[in-house]
Parts: sequence; C-alpha cells; structure tokens
Amino acid sequence: MKRKLLVTSALPYANGSIHLGHLVEYIQTDIWVRFQKMQGHECHYVCADDTHGTPIMLRAEKEGIPPEELIARVWLEHFDDFSAFHVNFDHYGSTNSEETKDFACSIYGKLKAANLIESRTIEQYYDPVKAMFLPDRFIKGECPKCGAKDQYGDNCEVCGAAYTPSELRNPYSAVSGAKPELRESEHYFFRLSDQRCQDFLKEWTTKGTLQPEASNKMQEWLKGALSDWDISRDAPYFGFEIPDAPGKYFYVWLDAPVGYMGSFRKLCSERGIDFDEYWKKGSETELYHFIGKDILYFHALFWPAMLEHAGFRTPTKLFAHGFLTVNGEKMSKSRGTFITARSYVDQIKNTEYLRYYYAAKLNGTMEDIDLNLEDFVAKVNSDLIGKYINIASRCAGFITRYFDGKLLLPDPASEEGRNLLNGAIGSGQHVKEFFEAREYGRAIRDIMAAADKINVDVNDAKPWDIAKEESRRQELHAICSKAMHGFYVLSIWLAPILPGTSNRIAREFFVMDRDFLWDDLKVFPSRINPYQHLMTRLDPKTVEAMVEANKESLKPVEHSPARHAESQVHHQPILDTISIEDFSKIDLRIAKIANAEHVEGAEKLLKLTLDIGTGTRTVFAGIKSAYAPEELVGRHTVMVANLAPRKMKFGVSEGMVLAAGDGKDLFILSPDEGAAAGMKVK
Ligand SMILES: [Zn+2]
Repeated sequence: MKRKLLVTSALPYANGSIHLGHLVEYIQTDIWVRFQKMQGHECHYVCADDTHGTPIMLRAEKEGIPPEELIARVWLEHFDDFSAFHVNFDHYGSTNSEETKDFACSIYGKLKAANLIESRTIEQYYDPVKAMFLPDRFIKGECPKCGAKDQYGDNCEVCGAAYTPSELRNPYSAVSGAKPELRESEHYFFRLSDQRCQDFLKEWTTKGTLQPEASNKMQEWLKGALSDWDISRDAPYFGFEIPDAPGKYFYVWLDAPVGYMGSFRKLCSERGIDFDEYWKKGSETELYHFIGKDILYFHALFWPAMLEHAGFRTPTKLFAHGFLTVNGEKMSKSRGTFITARSYVDQIKNTEYLRYYYAAKLNGTMEDIDLNLEDFVAKVNSDLIGKYINIASRCAGFITRYFDGKLLLPDPASEEGRNLLNGAIGSGQHVKEFFEAREYGRAIRDIMAAADKINVDVNDAKPWDIAKEESRRQELHAICSKAMHGFYVLSIWLAPILPGTSNRIAREFFVMDRDFLWDDLKVFPSRINPYQHLMTRLDPKTVEAMVEANKESLKPVEHSPARHAESQVHHQPILDTISIEDFSKIDLRIAKIANAEHVEGAEKLLKLTLDIGTGTRTVFAGIKSAYAPEELVGRHTVMVANLAPRKMKFGVSEGMVLAAGDGKDLFILSPDEGAAAGMKVK
C-alpha cells in the first residue's frame, strides 16, 4: 500500500552555525525519509531556517546590515552544511516568506474568531537607551540567590536558580548596558487555559501521538491548568506584524512551526502537490515532526492546540530525540568538542562516517547519544571498511578477471539460494521493521551480523587459493557470486544511511540506471563492472585536527598593541577545592620565549621555543590570532613544565604556556621584572 507522508525536522535558528549536535536530528530524519522513499511511498521532507526575533535583529544591527541580508547569508551556509551531510530536503525554505506570513495571519485570525486570543497589559523591562523592550536573555544582573554577577534574566549559570527578570539585583541591559525600567505594554495571549484547549490536549497527548516518556511529561504539565501563551512582541522586532495590531509582532515561536506549512506550500506550488490533502482536518495522509526533547512543550502543546482550533489537521506523531554528548560530556567550546558541521567537512571530509556512527547509536527513544571520538574511528574502520567494503574489494576482482563480470544467480533449488532470494542473510529480515521504528542501532547490528557471516564464508572458502587451480573455476565463480550478492543486499540495506556510497554502488558497480529501491532485494544482478575504490579508512589524525580547530581559545581575536578585554568578563564558577599536594604536582616554571614562529599549514598555532634554564622545550600554542611571533621573542612567561607531551598534527608539544581569557580575548601571563628562566612558580 502506497502511503503519503509529510516529514519535518525542527527549524534551525538563523543566528549560528550548524554543529554536530544539530546533525543528530537531521541525519535521523533523513535516514527515515530515504527509507520511506525506497519503499516507494510518497514522502515529502521539508524544513526551513527560523529567521525572526530579537537576537537576529540585534546581530544584523551589529554587523551593520539589514536582517534580510543576514538571514540570506546564514541560509546559504546552513543549506551547504546540510547538503554536505546528504540531508536531502525536498524543500528548504525560510520562515521569512509570504507563505509563512499568510498562514500565521490566518491561524491567528481563526483563533481570534474562536475567542482564544486575549489582550492584556503586562509589565516588562524596557531599555531606555535602545528604546526597546528586553527579552529575558537580554537582561543581566546579580543572581538573587547566590549573588553571582552577570547572570541572565531567567536563570543563574552559577547556582542554577530560576527566577524572573524582576528578581535580578542591579539589572542592566545586555544590549546597551543601561539600567532597564519596568514599563507597561499591551500583549496578546493565546488562551491555552481555555477548557477547550485543556480537553483537547489531554486527549491528544495520550492517544499514541507521543513516545511514552514524552506523553508522561506532558501529563505532568497538563495536571495544573496551562498558562496562557504570550504570542506578541513590541516593535522594534524582526518578524511579522500582527494584522490588526500596529507595532505588535508575532513572537518568533508562533511562526516557527507555521514555517513547516509555509515551506510545504512552496514545495506544493513547485511540484503540483495538493496542499489541502496534507493539512485539511481529517486528512488521511501522515504528518511527522522530528524534534529535540527540549522543544516538546512547543510541539506537543502549543502547536497541536493552534492547529486544532484553526481548523487544520494535527500531527500523526512527534518523534523526539535526546541530546548529543561528545566523549561522555556536554559539548564544550574549550575542549574543542563543540564541533561545527563545516569543520567536520574541512577535516574529515567523508560525512557518511558520521551518518553511520549516529545511526549505530540511535533508537526510537529520547535518550541522549554519545559521540565517543575514539570509538567513532574504531567503528567506522572495523564495520564499514573491515566488514562491508572488504567483501567487494576481496571478491569482485575474480569475477572481473575470470568471468567477464558475470555473476551466477542464486539457485532457488538450494536452501542457501532460497534464503538469499528471501533477503534472509542472518537475521536481516527484521532490518525493515527496525528502520520503520527508528531503531537504527538494531538495524545496523543485524546488517553487520550479516556482513560477518558473508566474510566467514569467504574466509572458509579461500577464493584466492581456489583461483590458482584452473580446474576449480566453477567453484570460484559460485563463491564469489554469492559474496557479491551478499554485498548487494548489504548495500540496499545501508542505502538510507550511506546514500552517496550505495548509489555509486548501484550505478557504477551493479550497472543500474537509478538509485536502489527496497524492492531490488527481490531481483539479483547478473553482472558487475570492475571494482573501483569506494571508501578510505578514517585517519584518527583528522579527528584530532577537527577537535583542535574547534577549541575556542584558538578562535581569531582582533589584535591591537595594548589590548583590553572589551566584552564583559564571563565569570566561570570556581572548581572544586584541591589540596596543596594536588597543586604541588603542577610544575610551573618561568620560561623565556627564545623563539616564536608560524607553523606552515596551521591557522591558529604558533611554535614557541621556551628556555627553562636547563634546556629548551617546544610548545605549540593557540595564540596566533592574538600575537605576532616577533612580539613574543625575548619575553618571559609561565609554563606548565611537567605536562605529558602531546602529539599534534604539526609535531609534539612539550608543555603549555599560561594565558587568561577565552573567546575573543587572550592574554599570556608575564612575571614581574627580574624573574629568570627556570625559576619555579609556587
Ligand atoms: Zn546564583
């Protein structure tokens, strides 16, 4: 039966780069969409940049360009990143479109007609210098609980307390630094507290639309009455003006999910698809949103309530996923594990490695997944190169050399032949169900078990020995044909995950004139073209280089002779107490910078030769953007002299120089006048 599906991923905000955390969702969705398309279903995958709101308005202003120019530039960057990772949207739009505006206005109008919109006067912080109301994230001050400075208006990063901006002590505007004033303003609210919304949501969130853990979470929120949702913001704001309320704009979170409709509408006009068939109330088509668990509230409460009461269909299901950790920890700019999509492409190039690794980790739950970089290298090399590609690279040559590329077809009279024709290598018959259920990890386990079995058969049969005996050609032909048919099955199974490689295999190797479809499992190819190199081992050095490239202290900073940290100093919490014994393990020495030079090919590093009295040390320091080599030669600084040597791309680094600051301001330490190279710092 041919299904009709519309699938979305959450809209990335047009204010920053795509990173590996974002990619979990886009890769997860893209694999599912490709799988559905391979089944022959009509499946549309749309997404868009989320372009409105104060952060975008302010960033564009800072860059001295109109917001439209900023979002156009970021759109291109996002689109390139997604394309590089084979994320294949049918349409990738922008929320700043006529289509999205039309839907936002008409939904608002219908909610208003249903008496679900109400205006109310609220008090909000106002920046008198900038002449604008301030969102919570743009108000800073001292935490009312612990007194930490420079905390945001909604929660404290030091003690974790949550509060409202009016509770902050000594608040200031993060935009202008001015002391904000509380002012009154009229805002528009979507009345979620209305009984109709509560009743609808209680039913909607418990009828199988959500994963069990998500449904439970929503029931907690629905237990108390839901608060009304503030959907308006005051000018100046970058967004859509509310039709009957001059100077008032739709809050970015109102038009973000509407962007799914806007982007799909555009696709419909491009390809002649019937929009209403997918969005009218009672539609029999399927609608799925892939989202992160952090935006469940918007997608499981606000969004279905908006659609229901504006006369549209509601989503068939929401698929929420967990967050990404790297090496078991939160992604960190200082550790270099806040990895951008672009830096992955620059260093590692092959993006299918990451698709494979994520797939191996993903399941249908909201659990977090971990990208362990060592395991990443090991898994790609052992599974993809060692097991999968290995089959073709060992057996294809014999078929080309002795049999003119012809394959013996499986014999339906033998049990083995029947199994192969049923796609039943190992436990492979479940692969399809696992993809459908987003249990990609289990699908990969079965696929690799099948690859193991094929490899064992080849090892046992030793075609390389048999090939030496002219009289055993028939046997050789059978062994290698069977292995190549196994490789063919694996390639179809892996196609949703490795679309680039598998489609090359379909066209260049198995002589097909199109990409693989799932039904190709029923028809075995009778010939192959000569084997071409398909995939290279993943070099761990490229992974190290990627981490280095993402270390924030290595990011370019602007340099001037007498530099001052211009931005607000970011107060990081003091770490756990250590003993004097712990401290004494660190051997700090005064070092004279005997030489400093550029490193060829390194964008961010300087090579320092440090004199510590008893000899010299080579240290690669990520300070190139803050210092010119000639400024450093002859200066004294402080180094960690007993740090384990570290092998880097450009050589071994034998220690570390101390520097203050992170982000855009970096300052190396200097001892007072008179300190000499080699002196111990204690
Ligand atoms: Zn605090």
